[in-house]
Amino acid sequence: MTIQFYDARRRRKAPFEPLHPGEARLYTCGPTVYKDAHIGNLRTYIFEDLLRRTLKFFGLKVVQVMNLTDIDDKTIRQSHASGVALKTLTAPIIERFFRDLKLLNIERAEIYPAATDHIPEIIALIERLLAKGYAYQAENNVYFSVERFPEYGQLSGMNLQALARGVRIDADEYEDKENFRDFALWKGWTQEDGDVAWDSPFGRGRPGWHIECSAMSMKYLGEEFDIHTGGVDNIFPHHENEIAQSVAATGKSFVRYWLHSAHLLVNGEKMSKSLGNQWTLSDLLERGLSPRAIRYLLLSGHYRQQLNFTFEAVQAAGAALQRLDTLHQAASTAEGDGPARDSVRRIIETARNKFSAALADDLNISEALAALFDLVAEAHRIRREMPLNRAEGFALQNFWHYVDRVIGALITDEVEIPTEIEQLVHNRMRLRTDRKYAEADAIRQELAGKGYQIDDTNQGSVIIWAKGRKLVNIPH
Ligand code: AMP
Ligand code: ZN
Repeated sequence: MTIQFYDARRRRKAPFEPLHPGEARLYTCGPTVYKDAHIGNLRTYIFEDLLRRTLKFFGLKVVQVMNLTDIDDKTIRQSHASGVALKTLTAPIIERFFRDLKLLNIERAEIYPAATDHIPEIIALIERLLAKGYAYQAENNVYFSVERFPEYGQLSGMNLQALARGVRIDADEYEDKENFRDFALWKGWTQEDGDVAWDSPFGRGRPGWHIECSAMSMKYLGEEFDIHTGGVDNIFPHHENEIAQSVAATGKSFVRYWLHSAHLLVNGEKMSKSLGNQWTLSDLLERGLSPRAIRYLLLSGHYRQQLNFTFEAVQAAGAALQRLDTLHQAASTAEGDGPARDSVRRIIETARNKFSAALADDLNISEALAALFDLVAEAHRIRREMPLNRAEGFALQNFWHYVDRVIGALITDEVEIPTEIEQLVHNRMRLRTDRKYAEADAIRQELAGKGYQIDDTNQGSVIIWAKGRKLVNIPH
């Protein structure tokens, strides 16, 4: 089957032809680790998970790189403001990021490079740009000269005249869109940087944000690779600058397909600090929402359309899952011998074809899910004629496993929490409230001995884990 993706640079769908047959290499812009991911970020990571799973579904080997942006203006400012070292600030945020991925059943990328571990590669790339005349040094900063790269703007459609009104800037934040022409590759040390600085041939300083992604993507995926993704806010200037830097340095095309997810809205509004709607996954779990329903909701809208997040929508997602569960349940408990009826085979075959055709068409997940619900309706109709037998139940379960390679929310291995364990957790909570920490810790040890790990959230509730899977969030 031919897979096609909407490529942002060509502004049209194009058949996906990987550079190395049988293998897809993709770079997905990762979190800026100065604060916890919000559900908008998570929407983008789920879109990237859908992309990754779909590529695998069609038999491709996937090499995915997701960077951790642990040096940029925001992380440095946050580290400065809170008076903690950069790594001390970013380490727990990175840990929680991975926990969010696990909770949402987002598959791990092959490589998660951090900018702080790639300073030599970044410096080498800047040196290449200086040597080729695309970059220049001004005092302790190194800038990319947009004028010397006439193709600039092809991805975003920004033209050079619009940019010409801008002046040179040395901020690498997304918000600085107007004040824009040349952008910084290396930023000389200033007092606000504190001890975040590295020696380089251009003086002591630190890299700009854009060059980090160029250096890390090319290191792990090659100077030319298949797919690069992010949210739409990444298109300009971040991805535009990545293209300029990489193409200027190597003379190669850098990336063959650019895919971007539209933004997530909350209650119909843009997420923002002032509206207080930048919810994190923990915020939602605190309110009793299930990660499975959240995953389903974030997954279920087409990635190029905005998605509106509301509590009602999460509930509707939960209800949709329940409808799917009902059939799965019937399939798992089916009894009786004999071959599967043709009608059952047929509805599975139809759903299978529609499901994969929809995914191959630029990840049309809503249509893929619709095929699944058609199957559910048909299967119930057939069941009413005569209950499912074992062979039919088995065929349906098989199909469930097949589609869940992409959906990642149908088959759950959630474990029931034994009452005894729940009791212990509550006892420990009480002890902690009474400040009897030693006794509380003894219970933690006891739980660990039984295979349960517990985490206290900063809202006072407790999350229980077993075998690396989150089980429940017990409110305080
Ligand atoms: P950041 O941590 O800000 O670097 O963003 C991480 C990823 O989330 C990037 O791919 C962004 O484009 C994406 N992103 C940021 N805000 C939203 C949003 N409201 N909806 C969807 N994706 C977003
Ligand atoms: Zn990036």
